[in-house]
Amino acid sequence: MDMPTVSDLVRTSNPGDWRPGDAWLAGGTVLFSYGSDSLQRLLDITGAGWEPLSVSDGGLEIAATCTIAELYAFPGTAPAGVRAEWRALDLVPLCCDSFVASFKVWNVSTVGGNICTGLPAGPMTALTAALDGIAVIHSPGGTSREIPVADLVIGDGRTALAPGELLRSVTLPAAALRARTAFRRQSLTNLGRSGALLIGRVDGDGTFVLTVTAATKRPVQLRFAALPTGVELRAQLSEQIDAELWHDDVHGLPEWRRYMTGRLAEEIRAELAASGSKEGSL
Ligand SMILES: Cc1cc2nc3c(=O)[nH]c(=O)nc-3n(C[C@H](O)[C@H](O)[C@H](O)COP(=O)(O)OP(=O)(O)OC[C@H]3O[C@@H](n4cnc5c(N)ncnc54)[C@H](O)[C@@H]3O)c2cc1C
Repeated sequence: MDMPTVSDLVRTSNPGDWRPGDAWLAGGTVLFSYGSDSLQRLLDITGAGWEPLSVSDGGLEIAATCTIAELYAFPGTAPAGVRAEWRALDLVPLCCDSFVASFKVWNVSTVGGNICTGLPAGPMTALTAALDGIAVIHSPGGTSREIPVADLVIGDGRTALAPGELLRSVTLPAAALRARTAFRRQSLTNLGRSGALLIGRVDGDGTFVLTVTAATKRPVQLRFAALPTGVELRAQLSEQIDAELWHDDVHGLPEWRRYMTGRLAEEIRAELAASGSKEGSL
């Protein structure tokens, strides 16, 4: 698509350089496919030199500029100890494969660009929200703030970013990366966009966290001190997801999304219950 009003491409990752009419440019797969007739400058962050993935005792820091291809490759190249301990890395290929995108898109589009686009079906939003990812945001005024990814995407194509704010990174805490997880995704067609994408997690202390994305306009997280019964889970789903929160577009009617969410949530609950008792009996 065209961008006839853009006059400059500026290479910077300094929010102080931002002014009204600017857009941060990462992989450009959204910006260049949607086009614009109002943007004046694109601020290209791809040369920022941020390390795509950094492992520490605290967890995994994913730079906003980390591409989907780099993230996908990570579990296969991570040190053996990290791979064995961080079982939730199993979610990485599942979420990357949830992109309905070509090889070209995979290799340039970024984790940050996916989250900042705010699509309900954004698989990087699903992955990082489900693992309690904390986003680091740099502001034009020179300050920084942190916010859970689950609170950063607030609606269909809407985020909690103020004008000019730049997503720098998302850190997945080690405790969440050590969790047992289960993943379910459903779309109307074989290669269609996700209509419901649910991730369940059981932490070391038994806490169960269910994250619903794609079916809802923004991520919804349910937390239980221990694995709930099916009845408890269903009750929380209907209590925490209002009728208007179910997403409605060509990729699925709200009623279908509501039904699939209930069904997939129960499958996740049952899978984690079964793997938990298997582990307990070893
Ligand atoms: C063929 C095709 C298939 C696609 N399939 C899918 C799909 O299945 N699921 C899906 O979710 N998306 C899909 N997309 C959309 C898009 O590719 C992804 O959302 C991608 O991850 C966006 O990343 P990007 O780096 O290309 O973002 P960009 O296009 O560079 O940026 C997207 C938006 O985010 C802003 N932005 C980017 N980085 C930052 C940052 N660090 N801080 C603040 N704002 C920022 C930009 O200003 C812009 O508004 C598809 C796109 C195409 C062209």
